[in-house]
Amino acid sequence: MAILNIIKEGDETLRKKSRPVETITPRIITLLDDMRETLKKSNGCGLAAPQVGVLKRVVVVDNGTEVLEFINPKIIKTEGEQREIEACLSIPGKFGIVVRPAVVTIKAQNRYGNEFITTGEELMARAFCHETDHLDGILYIDKAVEMLDPEDVE
Ligand code: ZN
Repeated sequence: MAILNIIKEGDETLRKKSRPVETITPRIITLLDDMRETLKKSNGCGLAAPQVGVLKRVVVVDNGTEVLEFINPKIIKTEGEQREIEACLSIPGKFGIVVRPAVVTIKAQNRYGNEFITTGEELMARAFCHETDHLDGILYIDKAVEMLDPEDVE
C-alpha cells in the first residue's frame, strides 16, 4: 500500500467530473487500498478518488469503526436537514458551515462488485454528500452558507 498525494484546491482535477468504474480491475483494488491508507494517515473522515488525482467514481469514508468503500456511489434517498461545520483534506486550514440532509441513503458497489445500500446519519450523512460531490467536481466551499475563521473552530 502507498500513501497518495492529496491534491489541493486550485488544481483543475478537483473540478472535473469522475467517470464510473466499469470493471473492478486490480488497479481499482490498489486504488482503494491506497486511499484507505492515505485516509488513515491524514486523519480525515472521507476521501474521494479525484482528491488523489484519479477521476474515477470511488470513495472511502471512515465511520469511526472501519473504512467503508464505495464504488459508483449514488445517493438514492435523503431526509431532513442539518447545518454543521465541514472541512476538506484538499482545502487545508479552512472550515465552513454547510446545510446537508440529516439522513442519507447511498447505493454503491463494493470491491467484489456486489451492490449494497447503506444509510448514514449526522457526520456520516455529511460525509456521503461531501464525498459524492467530489465525484462531480463540487467542493463544500461552493455550498457553504458561511466560512469560519479557523481560530474559532476548536
Ligand atoms: Zn473534501
